[in-house]
Amino acid sequence: MKKKVWLALSMLVVCALVVGIGHLAAAREMRVKMDPEKIRAHVKYLASDALEGRGTGQKGGGLAADYIAGQFKSYGLQPASEAGTYLQSVPMVSMKTLPETTFTFIPAHGEPVALKNLDDFVTSNENQTESADIDAPIVFLGYGITAPEYRWDDYKDYDLKGKVALLFVNEPVSDDPKFFKGKTLTYYGRWSYKYEETARRGAVATLIIHRTDLASYGWEVVRNSWGSEKSYLEKGRVPKLEGASWIQKEVAQKLVGMAGLDLGELYQQSQSRDFKPIELGVRLKAHIASQMHRFVGHNVMAMRAGSRLKDSHQAILYTAHYDHLGIDKSRSGHNIYNGAVDNATGCGILLELARAWAKVKEAPERAILFAAVTGEEQGLLGSEHLGKRIVYLPVDPILDLNFDALGPLGIPEEVEVSGAERTTFYPVVAATAKEFGLVIRPDPRPEAGHYYRSDHFSLARVGIPAFSISEGMKFQGHDEAWGEQQADDYVKNRYHQPTDVYRDDWDFRGLAKMAAFGYELGLKAAAQSEPIQWVPGDEFEKAPRPQTEIDGEALFAGRRDLRLTNATRIGYSPVILNAVESKSK
Ligand SMILES: [Zn+2]
Repeated sequence: MKKKVWLALSMLVVCALVVGIGHLAAAREMRVKMDPEKIRAHVKYLASDALEGRGTGQKGGGLAADYIAGQFKSYGLQPASEAGTYLQSVPMVSMKTLPETTFTFIPAHGEPVALKNLDDFVTSNENQTESADIDAPIVFLGYGITAPEYRWDDYKDYDLKGKVALLFVNEPVSDDPKFFKGKTLTYYGRWSYKYEETARRGAVATLIIHRTDLASYGWEVVRNSWGSEKSYLEKGRVPKLEGASWIQKEVAQKLVGMAGLDLGELYQQSQSRDFKPIELGVRLKAHIASQMHRFVGHNVMAMRAGSRLKDSHQAILYTAHYDHLGIDKSRSGHNIYNGAVDNATGCGILLELARAWAKVKEAPERAILFAAVTGEEQGLLGSEHLGKRIVYLPVDPILDLNFDALGPLGIPEEVEVSGAERTTFYPVVAATAKEFGLVIRPDPRPEAGHYYRSDHFSLARVGIPAFSISEGMKFQGHDEAWGEQQADDYVKNRYHQPTDVYRDDWDFRGLAKMAAFGYELGLKAAAQSEPIQWVPGDEFEKAPRPQTEIDGEALFAGRRDLRLTNATRIGYSPVILNAVESKSK
């Protein structure tokens, strides 16, 4: 007995030793040079006027995808879409709400109130039809949240089918980290959750009450992003709203006033667990006219196969969105949204990572997968599609590292990895940051919900531990205030504007450092034997992985002439079935 224990112990020691040596050797070899000038060249090209702002569904977006696919190919990486190509088709629909769209509140008694499109409300038809007519009662739903883990339910069995939901953006006010994460915004507070949840419950339209303080951005931002054209993934079986809308706070006050209620008081009531839906006795009569256009966008995907037999079906995924806002022909002067920082920089890092991973002699234990995704600016569409299709890919990602909008400002002494602390990989991230002389900078504004605003979130939603890597505020030779000033200047003068252009005086050494940091994390993740998981209790711990059940719509996406008529399970051997099932968990 004693001997057995000793044997087991010595085995353990030997194993640990081997792993340790393996790591060291790998680390030494790995500090492959990331070339800042190669990153510069990618950024310069992707942000050039020739690419017309890489708009989703526009010519420039296609040129960018072709460029990235060409680079992947030139490095010798394999194509990695489920179709065996570098380009993964992403069927999309663009919807433009037309000016003849009308919204009118009809009270039980008294005069109807007609609203002004864009000034009072914005709306978009997620249900993807050219015309929609709504005449339905409006129900106030507080925050419209069902969150069993916080024992919170605003609906209380209320049947929302065929009705119009009125609700606040954000979530119940709290300082308690155990209750909606205190000041940190959870996904329940995001507008996208409100639309998804109410549509799931059968609502035809949802009116989110806009308050600048709650949304952390002004009406102008809402109006700009919802008042123009919006793209969606082609509609599947999930129910969608005909009127996904925002209304100004004053308009909401007028609306609840018609029911003899006060918006401030409703806001107070919304803070309570005892809140129950309130029928306002007012109907929304709406005509929503949209210009509709179907098209196919592309994610660009490549991989390097893994070498460790046991784990080679698993992959470390790197993502960066390549799309930006395109070209606005209605605008005079320079009308190209070049998107140099947002996100030619992330693509430059992704490509340099791809080159490095392709070049390294010894194959990684797990596969390395790269995805330059489209439609991020339209609402994380490309990555959402990627997440939905994840079980169809040749390999199964166990971690996603994302890069989105990094300033080429010199050598960073800090790194932001917000969301990494949600995963069991965090100790490795912390140790690696230390090796790189990088201090981890905590999310400065957790209440703004940045975690839900970039592509890693789409992977998190399907249960894959995921986070973005970016620089903090402290750069070599400068103080923190300088970094903050640069960030403020970017947000104010260039963010999502045609002024986000490439500059020759940019210093790309920092981006090379971020690429090297991402490489090291990928190397460790690919080698480690422990699984990477969400920390217990995290909101994504139980995120449902997409199923491998045959989805006819997805299978024949982009082929309108084909549809699934019959599906029969073939009796595969248990081994294959096991593999499929463990993949879908
Ligand atoms: Zn952006």
